[in-house]
Parts: sequence; C-alpha cells; structure tokens
Amino acid sequence: MIRELTCIVCPKGCPLKVELENGAVMNVTGFTCPRGKQYAIDECTHPMRTITSTARTDNGEVIPVKTDRTVPKESMFDCMTEINKAVVRLPARIGDTVIENILGTGANVVATANMD
Ligand code: SF4
Repeated sequence: MIRELTCIVCPKGCPLKVELENGAVMNVTGFTCPRGKQYAIDECTHPMRTITSTARTDNGEVIPVKTDRTVPKESMFDCMTEINKAVVRLPARIGDTVIENILGTGANVVATANMD
C-alpha cells in the first residue's frame, strides 16, 4: 500500500510517498531532507502533533499557550482537557511553563505571550 502525505515540518511542503506493508514502513520517497523522511515514518507509525491553544489566567483573561514539543496525536484530546483546567498565574512571560510534562508526554505547555 502507498500512502501519500504532504510534509508539514517546514513551509516547503514536499509531497511524500510511503510504502507500507502490514503497517510497517518499507520505503519513503519525495523528501528533500532527513526531517521529511522521519516525519513520514512517524506519521505512519506514531503520529505526533504540537498543540497550540489558550489557557485561563487568574484575572479571567486567556493567554496563548503551546506544547514545547510534539505529543502523540491520540493524546491531544486529553491534553486539551488538562489545558482547560489550568489557571495561569500572572504576570507570565513567553516560555514560562504552564503545565510541566503534560500527561507524562515529556512536553511542557508554555506561554507564547507576555501578560501582566
Ligand atoms: S522534506 Fe524537508 S524540505 Fe521538504 S517539507 Fe519536509 S522538512 Fe521541508
């Protein structure tokens, strides 16, 4: 089976073709750098995503947040539930950790804006 993907690692968006056999990646073509090949393998075996969202602050406003690395795609809904429970104490600065090691994924949720 051939699966066609568009690499989302950088804006170039290389078209990738992944040859799969019983769920195993046999070959990848179309990438122009090693990151694209790894993306194709990951996407077909254990897809990962960065989460971008907002979290409540202690003054009732919201602050943009994101994970500082990718998390398993299947954990995104549970991660969003955790982010929705969080309350960020102000002031906050870009890069401040809002949730450490969210759900044991190894990713921290960090602020992506300054707010006083
Ligand atoms: S394969 Fe490399 S150059 Fe092409 S989109 Fe992916 S990261 Fe960018």
